Amino acid sequence: MKIGFIGLGNMGAPMAKNLAKAGHDVVGFDNIATIPKEITPGASSKSVANNADVVIFMLPNGEISRLVAIDIMSIMKKGSVLIDCSTIDVASAKKINELANESSINFLDAPVSGGVVGANSGSLTFMVGGKKDIYDRLIPLFDIMGQKSVFCGTAGSGQSAKICNNMILGVTMIATCEAFALADNLGLDRQAMYDVVSTSSGSSWSMNTYCPAEGIGPKSPSDNSYLPGFSADLMLKDLRLSQQAANEAGTSTPLGEVATKIYQTFVENGDGSGLDFSAILPWIKTSQRS
Ligand code: NAD
Repeated sequence: MKIGFIGLGNMGAPMAKNLAKAGHDVVGFDNIATIPKEITPGASSKSVANNADVVIFMLPNGEISRLVAIDIMSIMKKGSVLIDCSTIDVASAKKINELANESSINFLDAPVSGGVVGANSGSLTFMVGGKKDIYDRLIPLFDIMGQKSVFCGTAGSGQSAKICNNMILGVTMIATCEAFALADNLGLDRQAMYDVVSTSSGSSWSMNTYCPAEGIGPKSPSDNSYLPGFSADLMLKDLRLSQQAANEAGTSTPLGEVATKIYQTFVENGDGSGLDFSAILPWIKTSQRS
């Protein structure tokens, strides 16, 4: 396929490389990042979109996705597909879908989980919203960039699934870290705490797979000075998107709201920026009970 790839940063570059390695003709554009040698450089978003069967976005946020979508829509081939793999707000995903429909372009929102490691190894998970027949047609592309893709429903559903998942993740990570801080202060050994909780009703992905305590459980960023992994900044971004969506949907999410405030304080005033989101454990430990 002729693929246009826009946004070749930490995630986009390895995803585009994997598509090129699999034999697709990939033309890429990024307004700052260097284009990997496997990708044919395009002069602009428009030139990348011109004649492409599929255009893929891996951009920072919804506003940029919308602006780039508006820019390229008139030049995209009728019947071609725009896939936005960026994590963006649900409202922007739905807006881009509307614009695409008006121009006879097909749109899928397909945010990912798996981070830079997953992007490099082609083992991302895609959460896909849009028309089922278009998704079915493009499964081979998702299979190159990822190990799993889940069709979630109409346009915007991929983003909805992603932020609901990450709201659970933010909340359970904070709860897990609070429990470790309490266990420490009660004199409970961390290994004993892990052995009990990871096989009991308090278990979760945050505890069992991504344990925030150094030297406990499977290898995770806590064993590597809390280098990301999944950064606290991106967790804050996703929690904010969850609260924006909850606001628009009129849904009460008090724990999501508190988790957003906690990550905001950690990132903006607690030296958390640039660290893995599980680095909130040592920060919580030093917090004073009010
Ligand atoms: P990044 O900042 O490394 O890459 C984004 C790229 O988009 C940059 O290179 C930037 O120059 C480019 N860009 C911005 N505006 C542009 C424009 N108008 N035209 C062309 N290029 C433009 O970010 P990333 O880590 O690759 O993340 C990309 C997306 O993936 C984000 O939405 C993020 O939330 C999501 N995501 C990231 C991770 C992760 O672990 N990094 C995990 C899951 C999802």
